[in-house]
Amino acid sequence: PTRAHIVILGGGAAGMAMANRLAMRLSGARITVVEPREIHHYQPGWTLVACGVWHPDRTLRSNADFMPRGIDWIRQPAVGVDAEQRRVSLADGSIAEYDYLVVATGLQLNYHLIDGMSPELIGSHGIGSVYASLEGATRTRDAIDEWLARGSGQGLFTAAPTPVKCAGAPLKMTFTTLSRIKDTGRRDAFRLDYLTPGEAMFSQPWVDDFLKRRFDDEGVQRRHHYRLSAIDPGARQAEFTFVGPASEFTSHHELRQAEFGREGEMTEVIDYDFIHVVPPMSAPDVIRESDLIAREGPFRGEWLDTDIHTLQHNRYPEVFGIGDVIGAPINKTAASVKAQAPVVEANLLAQLQGQALPARHNGYTSCPLITDIGKAMLVEFGYDNDMAFLPSFSFIDPKEESWVAWVLKDYLLQPAYYAMLEGRV
Ligand code: FAD
Repeated sequence: PTRAHIVILGGGAAGMAMANRLAMRLSGARITVVEPREIHHYQPGWTLVACGVWHPDRTLRSNADFMPRGIDWIRQPAVGVDAEQRRVSLADGSIAEYDYLVVATGLQLNYHLIDGMSPELIGSHGIGSVYASLEGATRTRDAIDEWLARGSGQGLFTAAPTPVKCAGAPLKMTFTTLSRIKDTGRRDAFRLDYLTPGEAMFSQPWVDDFLKRRFDDEGVQRRHHYRLSAIDPGARQAEFTFVGPASEFTSHHELRQAEFGREGEMTEVIDYDFIHVVPPMSAPDVIRESDLIAREGPFRGEWLDTDIHTLQHNRYPEVFGIGDVIGAPINKTAASVKAQAPVVEANLLAQLQGQALPARHNGYTSCPLITDIGKAMLVEFGYDNDMAFLPSFSFIDPKEESWVAWVLKDYLLQPAYYAMLEGRV
């Protein structure tokens, strides 16, 4: 039994799983979840909404269905964290003090870093973005419908210059749209470009090779070292900043303007009929502006400062992080949350009892990479490249596209996800 007060910031996939696990394991502890929303969103379903396969309602549940009994639920956002004083400030000006803190706020979408872009534009002017919200995913579906109804044109599919949640989602949007285009019987009338800031399309080398080959075979133009920097919705033009070596900058088709732009940057403006926008992402401002943010290294100023294996904060041992908010080279999927939750549970309990931390996260993450409507590949991997992939199902070959993996995505993963929220797996 413990009298400690544990505050969980955020009651999404990670926060809700932790609330249920800790409520089951600890007697006497006071557990508080800070979560402003009444509705839980099954975000992995948004790609299926955006390609027209799922009805949007299929992704909605009430948070009250999952919130464990006997815990305090503060229905408002945290607006500040003082890690020295162990205090969380809330939107109404009140304070929640904690002995232990689990940071599970998810991440923030920074659409404002793309000039001219805002989430309100999704669904109009040929703009789609699966990430913004359920409404955004639904309007992305509508924007794609509208493009297909035009019968031809240029589609631009972008990737972000930061880590993103579900790194496969921008690719899934490209593949499912391509699949729908082929169904129109007018494949040649549509041009698809995939523009990414990096050299790689995916962190795992064999997936990267597969994707590059597949895009080339399907006639999807790959443009590497391109970061979406501005959008002019009225003109349906997108400006990309070239972020690779200057010697590799060559202008491409339909070039409207290629010049040395702002402060010596090389930019290229491309016309589009449809664009899929992937915004830069970071920890939410409430974490970025707190003592908890990474102060050095690759996650500096952007992500929570946690040990990637124990998930304990690197400077505040009473603080743990889980889910999209943590600074880690891979992860940011619900599948990683499932692997992280038992680790945070075991290590938090050990910390509470003054013992050494027993559990380590191996970086497990997975992505049912949709390669066609009706086909997917279950890509699974961890921090260690030697264990390049970690198959969970003996009947699914992780390097093969299959209908079985699609069924997994379409029907089986959602119940498994809800079982995770309930702390049952
Ligand atoms: P979230 O589930 O986003 O929850 C964060 C919670 O914190 C929210 O409820 C929010 O209201 C709350 N919060 C935020 N700020 C505050 C604050 N200041 N105070 C209090 N509460 C706050 N994962 C997979 O495993 N497979 C997939 O196929 C997959 N596909 C995806 C497709 C899309 C389009 C998207 C968007 C995501 C996908 N994911 C997928 C990723 C998965 O949804 C996330 O990794 C997962 O939800 C992370 O859980 P989290 O708890 O960290 O964040």
